[in-house]
Amino acid sequence: MSIASLNDVLKPAKTGGYGVVGFVVLGWEDALSYVAAAEKMQTPIVLQAGPGFRRHMPVEISGPMLRYLAEKASVPIVCHIDHATCLEECIAGIDHGFSSVMFDGSRLTLNENIAKSARVVEHAHRNGVSVEGEIGFVGYDSGEKSKMTMPAEAARLTSEAGLDALAVSVGNLHLQKTGNADINLRRLAEIEASVACPLVIHGASGVPDEMRRHLATRTGVCKFNIGTEFRQCFGKALRSALEDEIELFDRIDILNKTRRPLQEIAEKTIKNLRP
Ligand SMILES: [Zn+2]
Repeated sequence: MSIASLNDVLKPAKTGGYGVVGFVVLGWEDALSYVAAAEKMQTPIVLQAGPGFRRHMPVEISGPMLRYLAEKASVPIVCHIDHATCLEECIAGIDHGFSSVMFDGSRLTLNENIAKSARVVEHAHRNGVSVEGEIGFVGYDSGEKSKMTMPAEAARLTSEAGLDALAVSVGNLHLQKTGNADINLRRLAEIEASVACPLVIHGASGVPDEMRRHLATRTGVCKFNIGTEFRQCFGKALRSALEDEIELFDRIDILNKTRRPLQEIAEKTIKNLRP
């Protein structure tokens, strides 16, 4: 059994100077590909159920599904709820097998964020589950604007709520289709000096490979949430399978065509975050 919490995988990553990938999962086939990549690379990973996936597949199904994969795997795997915005969503995830939750209070005032994050931490820790929080605001490509994380606010949120990991906004942006995010290393260093827990970069699809590697090996950033890059790979693989093999009609055969390309890109991404 190798189900793990963020503490189990991010603390060794911080001391060892490497990064852990938070894979945004959207179904069974991509989850299988990510676990296969983790086992091949002999490295821990995080399988994340974000809001879109939770709308598509209830946590009653996705929780046991991801947990099954984690328990069978030869490496530690964290089953993580991404971007929950209320305690109830976190409790539902924990009740259905998730070993970690992110409570996203980034749209709240600092005091509300601290109070609500602390309640999530209290419930989660009682169940052996880790909690990631967010302060500042990581915006969306062609959507809501980002708000840079303030080091003093990050210090208060992490220490007063007792968080295990903190998502920061330092030039990263969700849903970027090309790797051109401009990371503010000075602000990141100031945050790192104020916060004891490992840091998380959301929107890492938009962070160039060299910068990801620098952040993983030289800074306190230990977890990189990546979705768009893998969704692009899945879409491309699916499209070429349908165009190139017109005799294909079986859903399982079609979807299985995406597994090798996804596993390959996942392995490459994991490798880049290691020294
Ligand atoms: Zn995010």
